[in-house]
Amino acid sequence: MQGLMMEMPLLVSSLLHHAARHHGDTEIVSRRIEGDIHRYTYAECERRSRRLADAFTRQGVGIGERIATLAWNGYRHMEMYYAVGGMGAVIHTINPRLHPEQIAWIVNHAGDTHLAFDLTFLPIIEAIAEHCPNVRSWIAMVDEDRQPASAKLANLVNYERLLAGGSEAYRWPELDERSAVGLCYTSGTTGNPKGAMYTHRSTVLHAYGAALPDAMGASARDCILPVVPMFHVNAWGLPYTCPLVGAKIVLPGAQLDGKSLYELFESEGVTYSAGVPTVWLGLLQYVKQAGVRFSTFKRTVIGGSACPPAMIRTFEDDYGVDVIHAWGMTEMSPLGTLCRLQNKHLAQPREARRKLLEKQGHVVFGVDMKIVDDQGSDLAWDGKTFGNLLVRGPWVMREYFRGEGGDPLKYDADGRGWFPTGDVATIDADGYMQITDRSKDVIKSGGEWISSIDLENLAMAHPAVANAAVIGVAHPKWDERPLLVVVKKPGAEVTREELLAFYEGKIAKWWMPDDVQFVDSLPVGATGKILKTRLREQFHDYRLPGV
Ligand code: ADP
Repeated sequence: MQGLMMEMPLLVSSLLHHAARHHGDTEIVSRRIEGDIHRYTYAECERRSRRLADAFTRQGVGIGERIATLAWNGYRHMEMYYAVGGMGAVIHTINPRLHPEQIAWIVNHAGDTHLAFDLTFLPIIEAIAEHCPNVRSWIAMVDEDRQPASAKLANLVNYERLLAGGSEAYRWPELDERSAVGLCYTSGTTGNPKGAMYTHRSTVLHAYGAALPDAMGASARDCILPVVPMFHVNAWGLPYTCPLVGAKIVLPGAQLDGKSLYELFESEGVTYSAGVPTVWLGLLQYVKQAGVRFSTFKRTVIGGSACPPAMIRTFEDDYGVDVIHAWGMTEMSPLGTLCRLQNKHLAQPREARRKLLEKQGHVVFGVDMKIVDDQGSDLAWDGKTFGNLLVRGPWVMREYFRGEGGDPLKYDADGRGWFPTGDVATIDADGYMQITDRSKDVIKSGGEWISSIDLENLAMAHPAVANAAVIGVAHPKWDERPLLVVVKKPGAEVTREELLAFYEGKIAKWWMPDDVQFVDSLPVGATGKILKTRLREQFHDYRLPGV
């Protein structure tokens, strides 16, 4: 027997429509590339998004067509999300930190027909335009009176002029909820980038899941500043979650240094934020040096790479900010797990609670996970046994865009498809997952595995260490041994011996790094994560002492 409820497709346009109708005067505040602060409301954002959708329709943009952005977090980018997705086309957010050649490759692979960009990226557009023959217009996201001229671009359009050509009478279409709405490419650290194509349904379900109290826990009383870029897995879904709950949004534009962020946190009353560990290093350094405190900032989600426990403690002890450690990936929209305590943990000693909060956490309903050995057999949830982490759920990708890489799923005995994350993890009896490593970063020494993340986390707790990475380097007897690569804090002094002594008693003896190398900086990839591949190249000719 069928149930008797209404069939209402889950569409992203309904998120913004809801916010405009029920939180119409809630603000969206943006720091523009021009440097000034722009503020308007959900109601205005929805009106302008409808106009833009109509303008694209008049340009002949059809259902399923890919329209790209190369842009910072700002209100026009938000309008692009909703206009393009809402009308049934696909918003393809490109990471501008990639190499121009790679950007051109992605534009062509995606088949983008229009590309909207912030002026910062005009040189990239000029470099790639001639290699992207399918792009019909390059849209500069800037006021009309600041529209640049470019001899290199025949079809350069102004965003505001384009939008002015659309009508506010436009109504969002009722689409099939399984139709495509967004496209993000993975960073392609191995081989060419591959596209994850989200549906309206997966995006709305992900926004619901993210808003839950033990996930991101967003509410209409929050003022949320996504430091994580809108080109990094849709700023972890926040442009969809914020309208769903009616939270105020603050979009920081191009100024992501500690001082600029701090000023925006204070002037707008930011309560909640999200970003990768590297951006928080900058903010924490600034607040410490300036001797200032946060007056409204209470919680932040940190993920994308392992959050060093020392960072969680500094936030909590020195600034009263709760860190929610989270794990996910582009192929998962991205949220998989977040670390929040349960009732039974509240009675535990403080140190035990803190240790738990260092893990990547518990799944959000909507994601199921398991760890398996190389033969695909389930491994124990004992917090010690580690194995390949697999996931499934309505916001987990089934296959890559254009079938790249074939069918990525692994099928279990019940014939269910699981997505292999490429991560190695433990899961404890309460279902808290902890990432040991990416499978390609784990250090294989004498047939056993050493977690580079654990060694990095410990090094980061040393007062003289600003940043640290551990890589495996070749060893004739053990295959690989760990090398610790360290960036010292400005003005701090520490020796190789002191750092190695710092590990004593904290790790198994055979985990001890064989050497320490000091560098001025670590290579960082397009999403702000330490690029281990580059670091391994950098140390290609390095030999361990005595080898
Ligand atoms: P890429 O970095 O390749 O663009 P993603 O941004 O999708 O891709 O990164 C996903 C990967 O980042 C995960 O598979 C995992 O290895 C790593 N990651 C994400 N969050 C965490 C975390 N909290 N701790 C450790 N690793 C993480």
